[in-house]
Parts: sequence; C-alpha cells; structure tokens
Amino acid sequence: MVASRVPSTSRDQQESCIFCRIARGEETNKILYEDESFVAFHDINPAASQHILLITKAHIPSLYSLLPTAEDIKLVKDMVAIGNELLSGTDPTQRKFGFHYPPFNSVMHIHLHCFELPHTWWGKHKYTETERPWAGYMTAQQLLDRLQTAAAQQAQPRTAHE
Ligand SMILES: [Zn+2]
Ligand SMILES: [Zn+2]
Repeated sequence: MVASRVPSTSRDQQESCIFCRIARGEETNKILYEDESFVAFHDINPAASQHILLITKAHIPSLYSLLPTAEDIKLVKDMVAIGNELLSGTDPTQRKFGFHYPPFNSVMHIHLHCFELPHTWWGKHKYTETERPWAGYMTAQQLLDRLQTAAAQQAQPRTAHE
C-alpha cells in the first residue's frame, strides 16, 4: 500500500540526518535524557570535562530556522533548563551552554552544547563566543537575547509612513 504523503514541514524528521536517527533510537548512542521534544547524549568528541548534546526531536536545521516567536523562545529556554538538569550536581559557575551556526555547525540539526568546564585545550577555541562573525558560536543567552529583541521589534506598532 502506498501511504499518501503528508505535506512535509521544514521540521519533519529526515531519513538521513544523523541526529534525527539518534532521536528515533536508530543509532547506538547512549541516551542520557529523553522527553517528547528532546533527546540528550554524549558528544563523541568531548571538548570539556562533560560535553552533552541536547537535540530537538523535530528536524530544525539551524539557529537560522528559529523564529522570534513565543514558541521558539520557549524552545531555547526549555533546552537550557534541561541542560542545567543534565549537569545538576556540577558547580553552576562551571556550566556553559551554546550553539554553532552555519557554516560552523557540524550537523544541520539544531543541538545545544552543554559543558561542564574546564574545556580541553582545543575546545576553548571551538566553543567561545565572540562578536566576530566568523567565530560561528554563540551562547544560549546570546541567542535568547537576539530572539527576544527581534520579538519585541515585531510587536511594536508600525508608524503611519511605513
Ligand atoms: Zn535532523
Ligand atoms: Zn555544534
């Protein structure tokens, strides 16, 4: 029987995406956390004392796919809250949360890097936020600030001559 295709949205899971495969339990990664929206597992190439990846179950290609909506702001906040839970028992001042953005992300599926510091010597360089556009990494707080600023701008009433 040929299943009729449901029109796909940009957030549908992808057959070949490695993180979608992990989210579906098709890979051997040890799952550290799972709920209806997220899955967490160890980064295969740890860049700090602890290095956990938290991914969405939905296929969201990158930060550029996030919108300044209450829904997506909540999504990022939820990710940070879960990240803090995953690192509970560690010194809160040694926790760090952030994202890469294209073309610096290794996998085109949104993932929050959750660290317990210190970094490895190379991890510090790969996962440090800066204003330089070629750095390719921003903290979860920077992302939230951007989304919230954009949301506030959209909410402003338009002036007559626009
Ligand atoms: Zn995916
Ligand atoms: Zn990354």
